[in-house]
Amino acid sequence: MKTSSKGAKAKLRAFFIENIGKLLTSDVLYEVSGGRSEWARRVRELRNEEGMNIVTHNDRSDLKPGQYILVDLKPIPSFERGISKETRAIVLDRNGFTCQMCGAAAGEPNVYDQGRKTRLHIGHIIDKSMGGSDEPGNLRAICSACNEGASNLTLNRPDAIKLIAQVRRAPGKDQLDVLKWLITKFPKQTTELLN
Ligand SMILES: [Zn+2]
Repeated sequence: MKTSSKGAKAKLRAFFIENIGKLLTSDVLYEVSGGRSEWARRVRELRNEEGMNIVTHNDRSDLKPGQYILVDLKPIPSFERGISKETRAIVLDRNGFTCQMCGAAAGEPNVYDQGRKTRLHIGHIIDKSMGGSDEPGNLRAICSACNEGASNLTLNRPDAIKLIAQVRRAPGKDQLDVLKWLITKFPKQTTELLN
């Protein structure tokens, strides 16, 4: 007999909690869910809606696709719960799938922890505790590392005009370093611009 989807989620939740820190595979989770084809969606809900700290190969390079670990019972930040998939997609696209604090792109090795891939979250520009809204205009892409260090800080990101002014004033050698860094970061766009 098939369990209801609610039952499947409850079973998965209980199973993760019984197995904190242990590597769980998709086969096992499928079984635990009662053979529900949407088990993966339920796992995502546990993570995104309930904030369970479940990591995958997207978070840690030592994990393979289909491997899951509930790291601990500390809930992941609630800032992006309740933000719709559509809003999330708009913000990530607008920010070029790049952390707006450190510039890391989604999937790149993390600057502070090379074993971890950059996973982007949606953060508030003006924190909710300061009255910031969930509107796309108040949201930005931010990586886990920056978020962990600065979830409550409002960062003043230099706007392009100020930044260009700074680069203009810099010595030629520094300008060349910036150029090299930009070419490495945007190889495709560089080729397009030169053609
Ligand atoms: Zn970052």
